[in-house]
Amino acid sequence: TYVIAEPCVDLLDKACIEECPVDCIYEGGRMMYIHPDECVDCGACEPVCPVEAIYYEDDVPEQWAAYTKANADFFAEL
Ligand code: SF4
Repeated sequence: TYVIAEPCVDLLDKACIEECPVDCIYEGGRMMYIHPDECVDCGACEPVCPVEAIYYEDDVPEQWAAYTKANADFFAEL
C-alpha cells in the first residue's frame, strides 16, 4: 500500500484524489489517508502530490515511519 506522510498535514492539496482509480484516499482531520486494504499499488497518486507526501510503504522516509502505522490505525478505528 501507499502511505501519506507529514507534508500533507494541514495542506490537504487533494490532487491525489483525482488520480486514484479506486477512490481509496480519504480526508481525515488534518491530512489525507490511503485505505491499506483498498489501495491497488498503482502509484498514480505519488507523482501528483505537490509536496511529495506520498510513498510506497517500503519507501517511507525513516523520520516519517510513524505515518505508516497512523494510516492503518485511522481505518482500524472506523
Ligand atoms: Fe490510489 Fe493507486 Fe495511490 Fe493506491 S497507489 S492510493 S490505488 S492512486
